[in-house]
Amino acid sequence: MSVAQLLDGTAVARRSFAETAERAADFAAAQGRSVCLATVLIGDDPASQTYVRMKQRRAAQLGLESRRVRLSAETTTDEAVAAVRALSEDDTVDGILVQHPAPAQVDELAVFEAIAPKKDVDGVTMHSFAAMGLSANGFHSCTPEGIVRLLDAYDVPTAGRRVCVVGRSAILGKPVGLLLLARDATVTFCHSHTTDLAAQVSEADIVVAAVGRPELVRGEWIKPDAVVVDAGYNPGNVGDVEFSRAAARASYITPVPGGVGPMTIAVLMEQTVTAAENRVR
Ligand code: NAP
Repeated sequence: MSVAQLLDGTAVARRSFAETAERAADFAAAQGRSVCLATVLIGDDPASQTYVRMKQRRAAQLGLESRRVRLSAETTTDEAVAAVRALSEDDTVDGILVQHPAPAQVDELAVFEAIAPKKDVDGVTMHSFAAMGLSANGFHSCTPEGIVRLLDAYDVPTAGRRVCVVGRSAILGKPVGLLLLARDATVTFCHSHTTDLAAQVSEADIVVAAVGRPELVRGEWIKPDAVVVDAGYNPGNVGDVEFSRAAARASYITPVPGGVGPMTIAVLMEQTVTAAENRVR
């Protein structure tokens, strides 16, 4: 029985971090200030706190400045929009990240829309979404773009391949499908109303799992030699794919952790430096 090769996001991200740090140093030398990423965390969700901390730590390692905005769990949509709009108008801020998900009472889309498109380094605004759909200039959603970069790093072809995306969120499932469609894949989206998920997955040359349910995608569903990208992260370092049995059938598979996660941060850092460079061009 063959065992899949790992799509090592940690290793691919490391190369990207080195390049981003160089660009950040060049920017600081030329402009007399560091690239600045503003992070906005609304509420006390422990996973979100961890994600924001990881992003701030990585930013510091690469020579970026972090501006931290913390809003309480009771924050209203208007308050969150006002805080983000202030960052959009602040000349010393290059990129803005609003950590998803916001608490239920907050209209997350309205908050995202308060991000100026030129600072939307996490690719969450309607402008960025449309740019991805139209293959026009703009920032890409970080996790979807990270997935595409990871496939590219291992020369995984997408043109003409059948892709099954499990999950259709605005930050992950939908945009990763759009980006792979732009790479000439034939894309099927699955979601909570999909009947016979197993049949859909088993047709796919590339499976992208983006749900948030531990091991929802069973190993036996994977077509022999398919490529498996597991974007899911569940407590206990468990992905959305039944890893060991899927790895026994797939040609390539992402580990969890160490697959998609590091790529997401790599794209965020890279796009933040690009935003800064664009603003002084
Ligand atoms: P989300 O907004 O909760 O969306 C989950 C999606 O899964 C929805 O489209 C939902 O369908 C679908 N779904 C739920 N149950 C299903 C089922 N039984 N069968 C098929 N589809 C089902 O989640 P998200 O923000 O996209 O995140 C998904 C996962 O990725 C989470 O584990 C999250 O932690 C992880 N994530 C990782 C990174 C990273 O950097 N590695 C970044 C972002 C997210 P409906 O639309 O019908 O409800």
